[in-house]
Amino acid sequence: MYPGRAATRSLVTGGAGFVGSHLVEHLLGLGDEVVVLDDLSTGSACNLAGVVDHPRLTMIHGSILNTLTVGQAMQGCDRVFHLAAAVGVKLIVEQPLRGLRVNIHGTENVLTAAIERQASVLLVSTSEVYGKNTADRLREDSDRVLGDPLLSRWTYAGAKGIDEAFAKAYCDQEGLDVSIVRLFNTVGPRQTGRYGMVLPNLVGQALRGQPLTVFGDGLQTRCFSAVEDVVPAMVLIERDPRSRGQAYNLGGAREISILDLAHEVIRTLDSRSTVELVPYAQAYAPGFEDMRRRVPDNTKANALVGYEPRTSLTSTIMRVAADLLSRERLGSDAMPLAGAESFRGAL
Ligand code: UDP
Repeated sequence: MYPGRAATRSLVTGGAGFVGSHLVEHLLGLGDEVVVLDDLSTGSACNLAGVVDHPRLTMIHGSILNTLTVGQAMQGCDRVFHLAAAVGVKLIVEQPLRGLRVNIHGTENVLTAAIERQASVLLVSTSEVYGKNTADRLREDSDRVLGDPLLSRWTYAGAKGIDEAFAKAYCDQEGLDVSIVRLFNTVGPRQTGRYGMVLPNLVGQALRGQPLTVFGDGLQTRCFSAVEDVVPAMVLIERDPRSRGQAYNLGGAREISILDLAHEVIRTLDSRSTVELVPYAQAYAPGFEDMRRRVPDNTKANALVGYEPRTSLTSTIMRVAADLLSRERLGSDAMPLAGAESFRGAL
């Protein structure tokens, strides 16, 4: 627990998801009581297997679209970490309506319930809000460059932008104590490739000895950040009164192209896989637009809470691989080759 801090009761919406489950463990470690609200649509109870019997954890299976459920879950909570969302480019492209409903209506339900109960909120947003801005470093006040709103790809950035605007308006007009973090390609154990996220996809393919599917020409770049670096910063930002009404980037330090990432995965896991370039139209849908480059400026979070991305990509690749193997998420067709076997042996 933080020195001199009374135990608090935190609601984590989306607490059974990838980032949410790491946050739940961290909050329990700090001495908080934690309530998880999750509809288990993309998250999984398995993600909380390590803490499921914890005496300070309550799990509620329900949706943020249900105002009654949200109100009940927030009972007695003094702060809310709002992570529940429809995420993943693949899911958003395939089910834009679900994304819009959950990400806009669900978030407003959480924000209004927090005002009623005078709870503070950390709204977890995304670097997607910057869209196609390829600035050398994206600052929190950088312009948003979004494509045609009729392309479903942009509905996620649109919805999350509305969420942030809602949060700020509730803060300014109704006194909601809210801060915002924008996550940049957070990676780590428990992330699933099912909804399109690149790292677990590539690691799973490398372990199976399948070709690593790199979309487009592979020269698009990202800065991957490790979940164990991001989660403590989220908590510190939430409890810092200076963050009220503000947004903070939380991203990785190293810019890497997806093609280089694929080769790094193959090298790290000693895999015999090759790399296969897949056109965007085939990977997603005709007319799909990708972000060419996405590089965060982390100065603001660093100045506030000392955020610094420390974990190397290589160690994250190893941990993601270990997680996939231990959870046997590779499926019955999994045929790890020699490289994966020696990797497994080293665990
Ligand atoms: N990508 C890829 N192969 C995959 C999944 C994704 O090449 O199997 C690409 C995707 O087109 C994007 C980048 O990897 O350029 C990151 O994708 P992700 O969905 O993880 O995050 P995004 O940054 O797009 O939100």
